[in-house]
Amino acid sequence: MTTVMGCIADDFTGATDLAGLLARSGVQVSLRIGIPEEAPSDTAPFEVIALKSRTAPVAQAVDEARVALTWLKAAGASRFFWKYCSTFDSTPDGNIGPVAEALMADLGVDQTIYCPAFPENGRSIFMGNLFVGEQPLAESPMKNHPLTPMLDSNLLRLLQPQVRQPVGLANRLVVAQGPEVLRARLADLAAKGVAHVVVDAVANDDLYVIAEAARDMRLMTGGSAVAMPLPRLFIDDGLLAADAAKFEKPALSPGTIVLSGSCSAMTRAQVANYLDTGAPAYRLDPMDLANDGPEAALSWLEGQDLRKAPIVYATAEPASVKVAQAKLGVVRAGEIVEEALSALAVAARDQGAARFVVAGGETSGAVTKALGVDRLNVGPEIAPGVPWCFATSSNRQIAITLKSGNFGQEGFFVEAQRILEAL
Ligand code: ADP
Repeated sequence: MTTVMGCIADDFTGATDLAGLLARSGVQVSLRIGIPEEAPSDTAPFEVIALKSRTAPVAQAVDEARVALTWLKAAGASRFFWKYCSTFDSTPDGNIGPVAEALMADLGVDQTIYCPAFPENGRSIFMGNLFVGEQPLAESPMKNHPLTPMLDSNLLRLLQPQVRQPVGLANRLVVAQGPEVLRARLADLAAKGVAHVVVDAVANDDLYVIAEAARDMRLMTGGSAVAMPLPRLFIDDGLLAADAAKFEKPALSPGTIVLSGSCSAMTRAQVANYLDTGAPAYRLDPMDLANDGPEAALSWLEGQDLRKAPIVYATAEPASVKVAQAKLGVVRAGEIVEEALSALAVAARDQGAARFVVAGGETSGAVTKALGVDRLNVGPEIAPGVPWCFATSSNRQIAITLKSGNFGQEGFFVEAQRILEAL
């Protein structure tokens, strides 16, 4: 089916988040991990390309986004979305503005909007200032982020040094008056040569006003939330048929495996909760893996009945993670665990597993790569921002969900299986 909207995301879990919100509409959404090498085929109405460019050098981020744009245009897209983090993560010579400006130039558009707000997750924008919960961005934990410390909360001040053209604001008082007034404000700013417009949003309703006002823009930029209303609007506009390629669950064999490489607080609670259900479980120890490799885990897996949905986890308390990191080095400890979980994923698939529940952002990247998955059809959400996805691995249909650290509730692993079964 011809693509209506092409989206470019600056990281993998951000792409999953966006794809999940778009798929809430029931419309088919396809997520590509990296820019596909082949020309577009078998495309969905919404195509999302996940880049890994958030902290890449500017020139590289711009180049990759432009190549992604070319692919999405070839897929037939007439609308485009540049997705970045809802906390506007970027370095001082950040990528958000330069990528937007390059995409605008390639598309021949004079103006775009910036709306990273995600009120459901506590990200709001008022008078151009971004808040995380009740704290201004620069007073939130984001001020200490290891790669993209956010030291200013004002989006106009953050954006202006990143772009050549003027930056302006459509504030909440405008948004509160509805789409017509917002559209007039955008036109007014365009007449004054303002190419980059930060748009305030403090509540979910604001996002609907913004999406409605910007529905004709060829390029929108923002977090995932402002894109959520677009599928409905495109159906109303006749860009998309009302019955456009609804998601359909493929036939899946019952074998299930849960793989957890996340040590985040929520994942620790989820693993504990799953162990309480009595599911077969194997704990990976990074030190054992460093000494003996994953063979013991692999032979344990071989003896398992995958219909009982066993779990293999490296998930551990911070103190134990520190011990492993001190002995092996932070990077090596992470790699060893990721390599083992990847090998277990492949072994499980070869034993007949078709349902994969994976916890951890980096872990997800490693597991999808090992399974040879570079395209996901995005299905219904299990928790906000965590959808079930469908893919082929070694010519077999699989379902896979990729949960980054703190997402989902405590019963997530059971809930995920229940939801998949009920589809
Ligand atoms: P999250 O989404 O919670 O950040 P990630 O998978 O992105 O999870 O990151 C967790 C990292 O920690 C991975 O590189 C993983 O291999 C590593 N890891 C997992 N368990 C342990 C452990 N017990 N000791 C040391 N490192 C670990």
